[in-house]
Amino acid sequence: MEKFTHIDASTVEEAVSALGAGKAVIAGGTDLLGVLKTEIHPAYPEAIVNIKTIPNMGYIEEEGGVLKIGALATLSEIAESSLVKDKYAALAQAADAVGSPLLRNMGTIGGNLCQEVRCWYYRARKNYFNCMRKNPAGICYALIGDNRYHSIFGAVGGCIAASPSDTAPALVALNASVVTNKRTIAIEDFCTVDVAKTTVLADDEIVTEVQVPEPKSGTKQAFLKFRTRKTIDFAISSVATAITVEGGTVADARIVLGAVAPVPYRATDAEDALKGKAITESVAEEAGTAAVKGATPYTYNTYLVPLTKGLVKRAILA
Ligand SMILES: Cc1cc2nc3c(=O)[nH]c(=O)nc-3n(C[C@H](O)[C@H](O)[C@H](O)COP(=O)(O)OP(=O)(O)OC[C@H]3O[C@@H](n4cnc5c(N)ncnc54)[C@H](O)[C@@H]3O)c2cc1C
Ligand code: SF4
Repeated sequence: MEKFTHIDASTVEEAVSALGAGKAVIAGGTDLLGVLKTEIHPAYPEAIVNIKTIPNMGYIEEEGGVLKIGALATLSEIAESSLVKDKYAALAQAADAVGSPLLRNMGTIGGNLCQEVRCWYYRARKNYFNCMRKNPAGICYALIGDNRYHSIFGAVGGCIAASPSDTAPALVALNASVVTNKRTIAIEDFCTVDVAKTTVLADDEIVTEVQVPEPKSGTKQAFLKFRTRKTIDFAISSVATAITVEGGTVADARIVLGAVAPVPYRATDAEDALKGKAITESVAEEAGTAAVKGATPYTYNTYLVPLTKGLVKRAILA
């Protein structure tokens, strides 16, 4: 690890005024410290701005039909909150599926949404693979190498790394928004739009809150995650669903895939396959097939197509 200046911020304003190029925010540190220790970036940050020292940023409360979660709320607090479990079950299940108890006790919702990709070429120690995500003149090693955990729904700027966050697909299914010190951003617009970044945040912008509107009555939710090991493992594929049933048929559905695309992927064909129908095994099967329509897997990740299809079917039936 190289040396850097450590700044404890006591307010959001203090944190953002300390930020800028060459500076990084630290919350729980469960992702950032790994990035710093393995020195994967070509340039090392000169300063780290600690936001855990800002008081009252870890709340979980409901106000005017909107769930409000402070950026420093930990994944354990979210997973264990009776309010979240009762009304926003997909989010509670997603938070509970992250890593291990230790990671969930330290990891925050803000950090979970802003974490870096896990592509093994990108995360190789000492910047060993200086790929195009770090250097626009570089190449994508995953395209020509081992791409078993990469996107099956295209690239962002040529990078096929998959979005690793478990909570992001759940928040997209629940139509959430991300509040920063500057603006409110629909979660669907928050994730990668640029090969070098994981979010649309500017250098002097931090997440302060996540807002989730209360789901309509009759909305059933689920979050399912497939991983190689039962604990401490990132998703190979995940799916979050929020399905509103009225009079026995589906009035509205949001089905979102995680870990199989550069950003949480709205499977709109699967949503359409459900609307107006009663949920049966064959309807769920059709929706699973529709969810992976248009998938373009690479040499080593074709298995993700049937796996994701099955996961969608199971989430709908759940
Ligand atoms: C072994 C292991 C297993 C893991 N398993 C999973 C898993 O299964 N699922 C999963 O989703 N994640 C997993 N993670 C990743 C990580 O632990 C979680 O995503 C965690 O929620 C990150 O939160 P944090 O507060 O620790 O973030 P930090 O490490 O503090 O920050 C992560 C990134 O977000 C930025 N950031 C943090 N907070 C803010 C903010 N408020 N505003 C703007 N930027 C911010 C930081 O600058 C940094 O770039 C795993 C990590 C490890 C080491
Ligand atoms: S998938 Fe992205 S992060 Fe991985 S090697 Fe290719 S460009 Fe780099």
